[in-house]
Amino acid sequence: MAHKRLALLSAIALVPGILHAQSATAPDRAEPGSIEEIAHATTETRFSSPWVSYLPASPSVVSPRAFWHRIPGAPGELVDSAAAYAYARALAGSSPRVRLFSIGRSEEGREIVLLAIADEQGIRDLERLKAATAALADPRRTDPAAAEQLILTSRPIYYINAALHSDETGSTESALELAYRLAVSEQPMIRRIREKLVVLINPVSNPDGRDRQVEWFYRYLKGKTDLAHFPRQAPPYWSKYAFVDINRDAHQQVHATTQAVFRMMWAWHPQVIHDMHESVALLVTWNGTGPLNPYVDPLTYDERLELSFHEVQTLTGLGMPGVWTWNFGDDFAHLYLDAIATNHNADGRGYETFGNGTAETIVPKQPSQDATLEWYRPLPPPAQGTFTWSARDNVNYNETALLAALDDVAQQAPQLLHNYYLKGLHSYHRGLEQPPFGFVIPDGQGDPARVAQLVARLLAQGIEVQRASAPFTLREGTFPAGTYVVRLDQPYRDYAVDLLTPQDYPKDAGEAYDDISWALPVNYHLTAVATADSRVRELALTALHEAPAPTGAVEGDGPVFVLADTGQEGLLEARYRLSHFKVAIAERPFTLAGRDYPAGSWILGPQTGLSAAVRAAAHDLALEFASTAAAPDVARHDAPVPRLGLWVPWADTDTIGWARYSLDQRHIPYVYVRDEDIRAGRLREKYDVLLYGHVDLELAEQIQGIPKAWGPMPFRKTSATPAFGTPAESDDITGGIGYGGLDQLQRFVDSGGLLITLGSGSMLPLEGGLVRGVRRESGGVPRSAQGGGAASAAASQSSVTRTPGSHVRVSFARPDHPIAYGYAARTWVFRQNFPLYAPPRRWLRMAYCTTCLDGPVDRSGIVLEWGDREGAPFVVSGQAWGEENLIGRPAILDMPEGRGHVVAFNFNPLHRDLNRGDQRMLWNAILNWRAILEAR
Ligand SMILES: [Zn+2]
Repeated sequence: MAHKRLALLSAIALVPGILHAQSATAPDRAEPGSIEEIAHATTETRFSSPWVSYLPASPSVVSPRAFWHRIPGAPGELVDSAAAYAYARALAGSSPRVRLFSIGRSEEGREIVLLAIADEQGIRDLERLKAATAALADPRRTDPAAAEQLILTSRPIYYINAALHSDETGSTESALELAYRLAVSEQPMIRRIREKLVVLINPVSNPDGRDRQVEWFYRYLKGKTDLAHFPRQAPPYWSKYAFVDINRDAHQQVHATTQAVFRMMWAWHPQVIHDMHESVALLVTWNGTGPLNPYVDPLTYDERLELSFHEVQTLTGLGMPGVWTWNFGDDFAHLYLDAIATNHNADGRGYETFGNGTAETIVPKQPSQDATLEWYRPLPPPAQGTFTWSARDNVNYNETALLAALDDVAQQAPQLLHNYYLKGLHSYHRGLEQPPFGFVIPDGQGDPARVAQLVARLLAQGIEVQRASAPFTLREGTFPAGTYVVRLDQPYRDYAVDLLTPQDYPKDAGEAYDDISWALPVNYHLTAVATADSRVRELALTALHEAPAPTGAVEGDGPVFVLADTGQEGLLEARYRLSHFKVAIAERPFTLAGRDYPAGSWILGPQTGLSAAVRAAAHDLALEFASTAAAPDVARHDAPVPRLGLWVPWADTDTIGWARYSLDQRHIPYVYVRDEDIRAGRLREKYDVLLYGHVDLELAEQIQGIPKAWGPMPFRKTSATPAFGTPAESDDITGGIGYGGLDQLQRFVDSGGLLITLGSGSMLPLEGGLVRGVRRESGGVPRSAQGGGAASAAASQSSVTRTPGSHVRVSFARPDHPIAYGYAARTWVFRQNFPLYAPPRRWLRMAYCTTCLDGPVDRSGIVLEWGDREGAPFVVSGQAWGEENLIGRPAILDMPEGRGHVVAFNFNPLHRDLNRGDQRMLWNAILNWRAILEAR
């Protein structure tokens, strides 16, 4: 009861005349029926505010309630992208304060739309306002005096992103009701927001996922309120490739959703990108505990805290419990969608509201450690299990908090624009005044295509890259013509340094929320030289306006073609391009026509039609072939094109989705293998190589899959579920492969197949018993143990071996193994928290054994081991704990079993399309599958 009185008091304070329902909304008139419907859908008075307790009536502008015939957040209902967009169009069509833009299309062709909301003057002035923030973004074309003039006549732009994570279902309707309220309400606060800001709303940022999720809700969740018997709350796919990981794409821009947000940013230069999520009671407004990323302007951290404390204070004052900030992960990695702003001198923000994963009203019962009274949580949420939570409660929290934030920004609009300008100015000045003054990226580096890909990623971030037309000399050395140069006297200097410098995560800090290394040169195994020589600014350079597209060629004119393996990542794609021809791979270095060829180099003997095919592949993939009269005399093996299957378990399609992406990008044909395909068997008849990528599943879950108790769960296109069934379909996604499937995998290997497993996927062969002799050791943690918050710092004791997304050193124990082709004997790879495995041992020969793997160590299966054999520091970028337990342990195992082999990676070379320098190890295993199988 106490809380209800509190809410009433605050309502009275803000809106005189609360006792009369009609005047409580003055100067607005409430849309008839809206007060009652909202009150009915709100489970407790304290879970709402006067600001959102009614819908303002409008004689001309269509309300979401009028359009959908229900209030936003009505129990048991969700709008799909079509219904959301239909309303967005109706709103823009009926209000002079709203305009609709298209900012892209999803992977499946659904439109991604953006609403812009301001007063009539603002809408008329949109082009001028966009030009103003663009001018403020670049201090080189706008001096401080001009900036101050611009600020007087321009507005902050606040971008709100909804429905990125599809099973966090409440944001779409929250954002659309907010759009309507902003367009029609005459409350002084809202008038001020309209007059001082431009508010951008992307109501369905991932429409493919939204539609699948809404269909999933109506098919599997509607009407269910008993959490104890609640089935899986989301379909196996949200977007074509990712699931939750769609929010780990700010650096690489793989997903159409991310690309659309970037398109919005370059068009509008917003000061805030605000991403709406759901997970924690009752509303967390994001700020990290630390460690903080040193390449983010201090003003950004300060502004975000100020905005968040304003939200906490305002909602607490309105009597809404459970609104807090700060203790939600670290602030080190800026790789999430909102970080697109943080990395570009603006503020990346976000909410976690309680949400439901359903539109039904339920009693949430999951245990919560986030309900204590803290300085950052002055009015904790009620104890779980003691209250019910509805979709409308979620809308009330989202919308009230967003209004508080917009009000705060409106009241300090000039300051926010001033800071936005200052951040670009500071970044530019740091590049002018303190080393490094630039980065030099030599072309070539054994793989000009990969160098070009790195440069393309910088350009896509708005980081300026130039190219030298002549050789030049700096303090660090002499560089040839064609060298790429990133001068740091540019507004996004801070982000350029962050992307080009290895990360140094503090060793005494707590558990990281996500990766702690992302430096592109480290990911790509390329050199970018930081220069402390300010003469980099005097070089004759040409600005790049589009990504470089290097080409290769064939030198010479003989019937034999030879390709030196200098570590090119494109070799796998090249092999499939040349699938009709025989390719042999040299097992030893050789010299031909005065040129040295390392092991791994290709030799193609005379074949009909070969010349044209090689020339085309060389050109397109930037590979340099030589053509000679005769083949060299060197040990070699045939490398036929394998029939490749990729097993994607229904229980985790997310992390393995990046494996699909990487193969698709390189045009590698493969078969998408489902759990039921594994169970059906005859695998060796269909595949030479079966790839099982990293999955966030423990061993038992990898076998059991999604609980059968929920089955059957069809994921198939029907008239009621037209969005289901892509990119793969199933009559029942539950049940996993089971022991029957495990038996089929064993038969595949026994009958001469090559099974390659990555990351936690390697648990299956190593711990599931498909190979002998490998024992899991204590002290390592799987990736799923990763998590955020200062509270989890206790988990980060140094005795536990952890590499939570770091680049660490490795050495080839078998430098002549095909997996080593293209690499130095000592290199590095990206490693997350994976289980720790001991070097293989033979079975003890005694009659009795309780731990039979106490026989002699047999290191013959270890291809790559953790640590640098010559003692270089273990960490290249990021951080490691308990690394002494890793040194010398297997990083890649190649274990013969039956007539086949299992190649097990203790890391994931296909991590989110980032660690492209690690991929060749996997490509080598696929390319040389026959040679690996023939080695006994
Ligand atoms: Zn989320």
